[in-house]
Amino acid sequence: MVCSHRKTLGKQHTISDEEDTVVEKLDMIYEGKAKKVFKTGDENVVIVDYKDDATAFNGEKKGTIVGKGVINNKMTNFLFQKLEKAGVPTHYIEELSDRETAVKKVKIIPLEVIVRNVAAGSFSKRLGIEEGFQLLCPTLEFSYKDDALGDPLINDYFAIAIGAATREDIDTITKYAFMVNDFLKEFFGECGIDLIDFKIEFGKTDDGTIILADEISPDTCRFWDKKTHEKLDKDRFRRDLGGVEDAYQEVAKRIGLVQES
Ligand code: UDP
Repeated sequence: MVCSHRKTLGKQHTISDEEDTVVEKLDMIYEGKAKKVFKTGDENVVIVDYKDDATAFNGEKKGTIVGKGVINNKMTNFLFQKLEKAGVPTHYIEELSDRETAVKKVKIIPLEVIVRNVAAGSFSKRLGIEEGFQLLCPTLEFSYKDDALGDPLINDYFAIAIGAATREDIDTITKYAFMVNDFLKEFFGECGIDLIDFKIEFGKTDDGTIILADEISPDTCRFWDKKTHEKLDKDRFRRDLGGVEDAYQEVAKRIGLVQES
C-alpha cells in the first residue's frame, strides 16, 4: 500500500452496499502519458493521478506544463459532474485531492472519439481547409488507440470489423459524443470560449454499460478565445507558442475553477 485516503465516499457515490467505503491507494496498474492509475481496495474503483507531463506528436515532443495536472483533474471532474446531470453517464466518483480522483473501473474502448465544430489540426491538414473554417455541422471521427501505429483514423465499419466496438457501442458512443458537444459548446460559449474540437474516450463497466471516461481538459480540447481567437489549449505547447501555463489557468479562471487574481 502506498498511501491511504481516509476519505468516506458519500452514500450516493458508494458503488458497493457499504456506506463507509475507504478509498485506499494501492499498487499502480498503469502509467500513461498524462496520468497514473492505481488499484484500490474496491475492485470496481481505481484512482487516477494527474501528472504535469506533456507529450505531443505521439510522444515525440515531451515537456512539463507546471500545474496542468491539478487543472486537468479539477476541470474534468467539474465537467463530468455537469455532463452526468445532462444525461451522459461518466466514470466520476469523487475528487480525493488536487491531482487524484476515484473513478469507476472500466475497460477502455480503444477508440479516440473526436468531435469538431471548426476546422483545425489534422482535419485542416488532411482536407486542405483553413484552420478556423466554421463547419456547417459538427463532425465525428474515430482513431484507433494504438501508439505503435500512431492512432490511425478509422471508420465505424473498421472499428466493428476489428472487434474494437459493436454497432450498438458505436451508436451509444455517437449519441453521447454529440450530447457532450452540445453541452460543452454552450457551456464554454457562455465563458467567452469557442469549442473548436475535442477528443473523448469511453469505457465499459463489468456489466457492459458504456460510460464517459478519461478526461476533458485543455490537453484534449481546442479552446479559442471568442473575441481574439487566441489559442487557450495544448496547441500552445504543440506549436511552441509560449504562455502554455497561462492559457490553462485562463480557461480554469473563465469557468470559475480558480479565483481571478
Ligand atoms: N486530441 C487528443 N489526443 C490525441 C489527438 C487529438 O486529445 O491523441 C485532441 C486534440 O487536442 C484536438 C482534437 O483531439 O482537440 C482533434 O485533434 P486533431 O485530430 O486535429 O489532431 P492534432 O492536430 O492534435 O494532431
